[in-house]
Formats: sequence, C-alpha cells, structure tokens
Amino acid sequence: MKRIDTEVLKSEHPIEEVVARYGIELRPSGRTLVGRCPFHNDGGRPNLYVYPATRSWYCYRCAAGGDVIGFVQRIEGIGFLEAISRITGERLLPSGIRSRPVTRAARHPARTAARGPAERACLAAAADIYHNRLLTDPVALAYVEGRGLDPAVLESCRIGYASGDELIPYLRWRGLPAGAALRVGLLGRDGREHMAGRVVVPEIRAGQPIWLVGRTVGSEEDAPKYLGLPGRKPLLGWEAVSAERAVWLVEGVFDWLTLRSWGVPALALVGTHVSSDALRSLARFERLYLALDNDEAGRAATEKLMQALGERALPMTPPGVKDVAELAPDPEGRATFARFAEREELVLAA
Ligand SMILES: [Zn+2]
Repeated sequence: MKRIDTEVLKSEHPIEEVVARYGIELRPSGRTLVGRCPFHNDGGRPNLYVYPATRSWYCYRCAAGGDVIGFVQRIEGIGFLEAISRITGERLLPSGIRSRPVTRAARHPARTAARGPAERACLAAAADIYHNRLLTDPVALAYVEGRGLDPAVLESCRIGYASGDELIPYLRWRGLPAGAALRVGLLGRDGREHMAGRVVVPEIRAGQPIWLVGRTVGSEEDAPKYLGLPGRKPLLGWEAVSAERAVWLVEGVFDWLTLRSWGVPALALVGTHVSSDALRSLARFERLYLALDNDEAGRAATEKLMQALGERALPMTPPGVKDVAELAPDPEGRATFARFAEREELVLAA
C-alpha cells in the first residue's frame, strides 16, 4: 500500500477551495465560512460550516462532516483513493501523491459540470417526487405488483413513477433551476420529462441518487423499454453489496429488484454491456454468480465476464426461465431459485 500524506494534501488543497469548486457558495461568518449543504434538502438555509483553520467542514442540520477527502468522497459517491485522485487531479503513483492544482478537474467538464449541487438537488427532487407518486398511482403500482415486487423493496430502493407532468412544477416549488434538470437529463429541450410514463429506479450512493433508469409500464411500441439518464451507467445496487464476498450479477433492473426482495446480494449491469470501470469494481468480489438472461446476448456477456474475471465468476443462470425476474410473480419462484442455488452448493443470505 502506498503511503499517502493526507496532511500535505489538505494543506495544498484548502477545504474552502474544493467545496467552492462544486459550485457551493461560501460566505464568511466570523472565522468560518457558511454555505448550503449539498447532503440534505436544506430549503435554502445555509447549514454547512467550513473551517479553514482546522481544514474541516460540518453540517449542523444533517450532521455530516469531515475533511476535504471525506467531502469529495461523499459529494461524488466515490472511494477514498478516487477522492484523492480527484482532488489532486493525478492518478496515484507508487511514490505517493504528486500534487497538481485542482483546476485540472476542469478538463472533465462533462463530469463536473453535469453534477454540481443544483444538478444533484434536481436528481434527488425527481427521485423523491417519483417515489411519492408511485405509491399513489394505481397503474404504476399495479405494474410493479404484477412484477412480483413487495412494498418493502419499493420503499428501500426508492422505486418511483414519472407521471410526466409533475417534475417541472415540483422543481419550481422547491426553487430548483430547470436548467440543471435539463443538464442532468431529467428534462428534454422541449420541456418533456425524460422518464415520463416509466417506473423509475434510482441508483443511490451516500443517500443521494446518482443515476436513474426507467421502464415503460404500458406496451408503447415506439418507445424503448428501458431508458437511462445520460452519463456513466453505474452498477445498480453497489452500496448494499460492496462489503460482500460473493454477489449475484444480473442484467435487468427487475432481476436485481427480485433478488433484493429475497435478501440475495445482487448487482445489475442494466444491459449486457460491461464497462471497464464496472469490470474493475466486480473484480473485488471473491465470488460472482453470473445470472444473466437465458438468451444469446446473455450467454455472450456471461462468456466475456468469465474470461475477464477468471475463476471467481460462475455461470448461474436459473434454467427454464428467461431471467430471474420471471420467477418473482410465481408464488414458488423464490423456492425454485433457492433450490437451484442450493443445488449449486450455495447458501443464500436470506
Ligand atoms: Zn447537511
């Protein structure tokens, strides 16, 4: 393990400069600086205190706090080492950290510009309003129930429904800029909601949705079944399994929700494409049970994953069904899956 001198990093990259880089306006208040906290819905009240003298920050509302590394980790939903590279603008080298000005981050405008506090607030607001709507929309609720999902998983995964006419008024009411919602892909240039008419599944990191994918609930023929927000597609369900030794890998959102509702640690690729980032993340598990779809694309992706991940990856698609989600509405589905998994000498984490 390389040695990282965090004290040097903190002195070379002052907390107030890094916080401001995320578009958070800080105003002096005595010997501290105060701004709006990006980690809770603050209703316009600044609660984020930044202390240049101790190189730390603290929110008096949501009780989040720490140093500059913790701030970047939390706001971007990334790990310690990644946060350090982000702050220094350098990949970590074997000799430790070589400092460069943070302004190098400006070379990645797509990432930084698309996810400022306003954009994140819009994403969170959209996930909130969609989630609230799902629980009151009979059509959407009937759809997810028909897929065999119980209310507990809808709640814990903050599944939502985009009615298509609520987001703009909601953003206005919350005082959030429609421009930010447009930049993050929630709204189109014509003002239409990207997710309109879809059941919406957020990927949540550190309590904050970082990406959304939506599925049509009807049989609209001209619309793609699944639609994600633009930007990097994450592995769905990362936080709940990142500390596991073994995890199931599935293709679809509903495969993942099915396993989640059964208490089985699972990640969804959301498709069959596996990015190199995703591969690197998957390589941390000791065991990967590949339960991709029972079709040509699923088998091809399984093969690729096995080549890339080696012995840790085992093909485990349940036989006789198109995918794991097909088992969900079946009253015997969970038992069928458990028998299949046990037969493969696995113990389900129930
Ligand atoms: Zn806060």
